[in-house]
Amino acid sequence: MNLPSSLIRSLQLVKGFDEKAFVAVHESGEQITSIRINPAKNTQIPNSQFPIPWSRSGYYLSSRPSFTLDPLFHAGVYYVQEASSMFLEQALKQTVDLSQPLRILDLCAAPGGKSTLIESLMSNESLLVSNEVIKARVNILEENISKWGSANVIVTNNDPKDFQRLVNYFDVIVIDAPCSGSGLFRKDPSAIDEWSENNVQLCSQRQQRILADVLPALKDGGVLIYSTCSYSETEDECIGDWIAAEFAVGSFQLAVEVEWGIVETQSEKHKTWGYRFFPDKVKGEGFFIAAFKKKQDVSSKSQETNRKQHSKNKSQALGKDEIEILNAYLKDPGDFFFINQKDEVLAIPIHLKDDLGRIQSSLYIKKAGVKMGKIIRGELIPDHELALSTIINPSVKRIDVDLVTALQYLRREEMKINDGDTGWFLLTYLEAPLGWVKILPNRVNNYYPKEWRIFNK
Ligand code: SAM
Repeated sequence: MNLPSSLIRSLQLVKGFDEKAFVAVHESGEQITSIRINPAKNTQIPNSQFPIPWSRSGYYLSSRPSFTLDPLFHAGVYYVQEASSMFLEQALKQTVDLSQPLRILDLCAAPGGKSTLIESLMSNESLLVSNEVIKARVNILEENISKWGSANVIVTNNDPKDFQRLVNYFDVIVIDAPCSGSGLFRKDPSAIDEWSENNVQLCSQRQQRILADVLPALKDGGVLIYSTCSYSETEDECIGDWIAAEFAVGSFQLAVEVEWGIVETQSEKHKTWGYRFFPDKVKGEGFFIAAFKKKQDVSSKSQETNRKQHSKNKSQALGKDEIEILNAYLKDPGDFFFINQKDEVLAIPIHLKDDLGRIQSSLYIKKAGVKMGKIIRGELIPDHELALSTIINPSVKRIDVDLVTALQYLRREEMKINDGDTGWFLLTYLEAPLGWVKILPNRVNNYYPKEWRIFNK
């Protein structure tokens, strides 16, 4: 593996950089696989015996299985996530009271690794706005958020500067910034060809633009978490210095255990704290993270503006019978209200009513709450999102199937199920819901979404 010599040169004075060990670990070709379990799904994962020390639900796997052929992966029982980036959990836990109702923004969210982690950490009364600016990447974000199953998430597709419409709104903003990507060279050596000093400079300018655009949306006293998967100081500590120079912020020093191998750094001018992950010291890939507290917004008025809410959605009212049908599918029906849009019904936590209105008038929403399905002739045609959600009523009829049948289902193939009963059923594998089937007297209709079906034999 030919690491760029200008990268190696630029890292010589960086704290913790050990050229020999760094080059050796890249040449070793070692691949580390890690997953993070979804605590809300409560399913045992057979292979999870090596915990990641800074994460409550993260585990290293001893080998890389075929995730495509594991139904639990499709059920959102776990997420395949690089171990270093799970350190976001520590950054959040050490800077924010997560038991409180919070408004959290994950600004650069696709494909959803950090968002699903935040979902697992925040309280039920909180809101996560999971945003991705690049349209082509929003679908995979939506899919991963749906699989994770929480209802208190709104997925948006907006440019960072659009968040200036929400002045002083969020308690926490996470910026997992687009970067030059050197931290992933070991995992993906082809990224080396795309790396250049010039690109590091461009990324740094873009990171500053993103931060300047979105910081007005952070409340005074709110927490900003900034991370990259780049080793370059220009994208890491120098950005810390830039934030401290441009905005009134304080920097958080985080507690890290010595044996974790994480290197604590300080920026040159403003001495902001940063945390570096070198793969020769940490069991994970290259990563950088820093946390800041906003003291006051010097760039704009810090009062939360009371914008008029313009609901763009024409929502049709639901009748009492329809609400009864929907309620039967929910674990805690009293916690939700329904929005009926173009015959598709969404369940939204009641505590998010005002936030939804506010966000609707400011941003482009791709997904909010949980899609319940369509009511046709007095029956709910349940949506896949409902099947994978954690708000579903546990007494909805279920059928647990073996691996062969589960894979037939995920391929949208014909299946044989001998239950005797007919109607809508949640198909489960090791008790984890995979999706809906409708059992008729003479056949089984497979409702797994076409666009999600697996092709791998
Ligand atoms: N947080 C994600 C996760 O944990 O799965 C990974 C995010 S990735 C490092 C950076 C994201 O920033 C990408 O999804 C990319 O599309 C997005 N992005 C690219 N240019 C951007 C820009 N100008 N403003 C905001 N986000 C941008």
